[in-house]
Amino acid sequence: MAVIIDGTKVSQDVRDEIRKEALRLKADAGVVPGLAVILVGDDPASHIYVARKEKACTEVGFLSREYKFPGDTREAQLLDIIAELNVDTAIHGILVQLPLPQHINPDSVINAIDPKKDVDGFHPLNVGRLLTGNPFHTSCTPSGILELLDRYEIDIRGREAVIVGRSNIVGKPLALLLLARHATVTVCHTRTRNLPEVTRRAEILVAAAGSPEMITGDMVRGGAVVIDVGINRLPGGKLVGDVAFDQVGEKASHITPVPGGVGPMTIAMLLKNTLHAANDLT
Ligand code: NAD
Repeated sequence: MAVIIDGTKVSQDVRDEIRKEALRLKADAGVVPGLAVILVGDDPASHIYVARKEKACTEVGFLSREYKFPGDTREAQLLDIIAELNVDTAIHGILVQLPLPQHINPDSVINAIDPKKDVDGFHPLNVGRLLTGNPFHTSCTPSGILELLDRYEIDIRGREAVIVGRSNIVGKPLALLLLARHATVTVCHTRTRNLPEVTRRAEILVAAAGSPEMITGDMVRGGAVVIDVGINRLPGGKLVGDVAFDQVGEKASHITPVPGGVGPMTIAMLLKNTLHAANDLT
């Protein structure tokens, strides 16, 4: 059976380090890192995520401010708030919880955030910096995956990495991060032909498709490191990843569980980006 990568434990370690660094920043420069989270509408999952982010902020000694708006809020109103937060010296990170209601263009909203305060790493400037090998804020889930690999001392250099999923928030930025660490990277998607043939090449396999347990044992090379980003709720209510955990766990050298793998790392990296922003803006 594979080593189970404990994201909850690693996330706690990262948060402990952040708490200490935040104390130091307060003592040395009198600065408390501040995160503003903007939530529009009443998507229940978004409300849960935002509550978790707030709690995590408070636990590491950050200032956390929440801005909740009804679902019919106009885009212009949102842009006004962002403009205010961009110049608010108590706020170092601004996060707009996605998805936004249909009538609001997420690109316009993300583009309005000062890239220095874009702790989600979604602003085109931050994406471009990652692409050109000069990253500033990097998207949280992909950087959380790198943190897991590093803390388990998993070699990336020269290894064959396959990512299933090409979204802007997971697959694409992760491909760039792995490439920067000298992996040979393949990105798969719904039009990829003969997916199992490709995934079987992977020494590091990342599943970020949002398709319950689609990665089965026969799709995995023996000894592979398998990272499961997927979060899928089955009709009975059970939470599963994109990887058939038991089957794949028999073949892999390392595997992340769902829940308790990649998920907890995302918030830890959001805190890390906020601390980075506070240091940079101080
Ligand atoms: P998305 O829907 O934006 O993108 C999914 C990608 O997977 C697409 O590029 C699509 O082409 C590909 N894909 C889907 N089904 C496929 C299939 N059968 N074969 C090959 N490729 C396929 O999703 P996303 O936002 O990147 O999220 C992916 C999953 O990760 C979701 O389950 C989401 O809930 C989860 N997620 C988890 C975290 C976390 O913190 N753990 C963060 C973000 C997303």
